[in-house]
Amino acid sequence: MSDIEVPVLVVGGSLVGLSAAMLLAQHGVRSLVAEHHRGTAIHPRAAHATQRTMEIFRSVGLEEAISEKSAEQFVQNGGVVAVNTLVGGATRQFIADLNSGIRDVSPCERVFLSQSALEPLLSQRALELGASLRFATEVISAEEGPDGVTAQLRSRDTGDISTVRAKYLIAADGAHSQMRQRLGIPMEGRPTFSKSITIYFRADLRSLLGDQQWAVVYVDHERLRGFFRFEKPFDRAFLVVNTTGDATHPATDISTGLTPERALEYVYTALGTRDIPVTIDNVMHWEAAAKVAARLQTSRVFIAGDAAHVMPPTGGFGGNTGVQDAHNLAWKLARVLNGTASASLLSTYDDERRPVAKLSVEQAYTRYVLRTDPSLGTDSAQPLVGDLNIELGYRYRSAAILLEPNDDGSVHLNPRESRGLPGTRAPHVWLTQRGKGISTLDLYDGRFVLLAGPKAHEWCERGAAAAALLGLALKICRPGSDGLEDIDGQLCGSHGIESDGCVLVRPDGFVAWRAASAQGASAQTLGKVFARLSFMTSSQPSA
Ligand SMILES: Cc1cc2nc3c(=O)[nH]c(=O)nc-3n(C[C@H](O)[C@H](O)[C@H](O)COP(=O)(O)OP(=O)(O)OC[C@H]3O[C@@H](n4cnc5c(N)ncnc54)[C@H](O)[C@@H]3O)c2cc1C
Repeated sequence: MSDIEVPVLVVGGSLVGLSAAMLLAQHGVRSLVAEHHRGTAIHPRAAHATQRTMEIFRSVGLEEAISEKSAEQFVQNGGVVAVNTLVGGATRQFIADLNSGIRDVSPCERVFLSQSALEPLLSQRALELGASLRFATEVISAEEGPDGVTAQLRSRDTGDISTVRAKYLIAADGAHSQMRQRLGIPMEGRPTFSKSITIYFRADLRSLLGDQQWAVVYVDHERLRGFFRFEKPFDRAFLVVNTTGDATHPATDISTGLTPERALEYVYTALGTRDIPVTIDNVMHWEAAAKVAARLQTSRVFIAGDAAHVMPPTGGFGGNTGVQDAHNLAWKLARVLNGTASASLLSTYDDERRPVAKLSVEQAYTRYVLRTDPSLGTDSAQPLVGDLNIELGYRYRSAAILLEPNDDGSVHLNPRESRGLPGTRAPHVWLTQRGKGISTLDLYDGRFVLLAGPKAHEWCERGAAAAALLGLALKICRPGSDGLEDIDGQLCGSHGIESDGCVLVRPDGFVAWRAASAQGASAQTLGKVFARLSFMTSSQPSA
């Protein structure tokens, strides 16, 4: 038995656990990830990474590697359509081209890269940045005390038990999270509405797909509903089956009693031909539900990813929402662990992330009803919200955001209209720095950033003074200084400020506070803002 001390223990080393470890390491926080499996994901599962997720991966230097892998694996900018059978061709189009019409809102593009190809990149980057990973290791117990969490880890190879003492624990242990269950936190929402399957199969699909640039193809057939996802070189794919039989009164338990023959029959039905040999490699069984945990945290345990929210894959939001949980949490844990914020900052995780999780879950459900199972009816479903609002326009409200008067309470906005409103993701604008093009998002390097209009000298000087007084690491960015130029003159308008105004951007790229103009510019004003955001009652950091 060995004892390990680490600031953060992450339970579960799949998409969200690995992202959490990587993002914590980016902020200089050591973590240990314990993962039950012997390695990273073997099944493709999640593939659609939104622009926001790609922005997060860009911030850790992974955007290029992910885009390269994606180009190897998927048609680029593939469409999302519906068919009766693959042979029959498209009957509806949900997305013609994955990135058409959205390139102005982000420096990043949406990509498809399956979890099995993404996770090795995440784990490698997490290791490079200083995280520790233990595969074939199960967390068998975790107890929370006043000063930390004590957990027992068991090696699946040797049976050895080790004790880990951590200040905080992130439960990224998936939809059946034992960590969440041990804490007695229930899931709330819509219980299982389909016992679905994913059939992984091999077949030469090139003649059927022709030159169609499709990545996801929903199947709306009189005998089954689900979707295909195709990977290059189109000699393998998966078919999800969510419902079968009459679409108005469908069978929703596809899993119980499934035989290999029936799985094969589903694939032939959805393809619309038996002329192509098909070999089934594997079938995964999973439950489609739309639920969010009643709480996302206790004082030292944080629930993230599928452990915190489950949703149908329709829309591809599940993994993305989990990566964003990790991103929201990483900088907060870092601040508290390095003593620049009090532990109260951590309570904003639940305040900020749960409403966003509910939005993603309900919007995935709405898409499921509309694309896959209309028999569920739209009466209890949320009206459809545009993809960009969910992917980039989700909005935070908590004590770590200084809202402006007349706040309308919205949980999402069109990112083209959010214009630096506190609680929204700071918008992307192309600038130049020493002649090189950069996105405003590239300025957010883990510190608080005072992004100022070109004439906001007063705010910049007062900001520097207030930050120095509080010992806060503040980065100040203003066109006209440090080689930064706003050649297109877009910065102020897109952030809702005058040329002498500023926005204060948190380490996660969300606007914490905004001054529309120079009015009220003083070190005292900013001192209060900084103190509020670090949850310090005085200028001294708390332990
Ligand atoms: C067919 C399909 C397609 C999808 N497509 C998309 C998509 O395109 N985009 C998208 O964003 N999402 C998609 N999703 C959803 C996405 O796969 C999940 O949201 C994502 O995998 C959640 O990641 P996670 O790390 O939270 O949980 P998981 O991937 O479930 O990982 C949890 C990990 O915790 C480990 N674990 C559990 N208990 C312990 C323990 N006690 N000790 C140690 N380890 C433990 C498990 O072994 C597991 O590896 C899809 C899902 C399906 C089924």
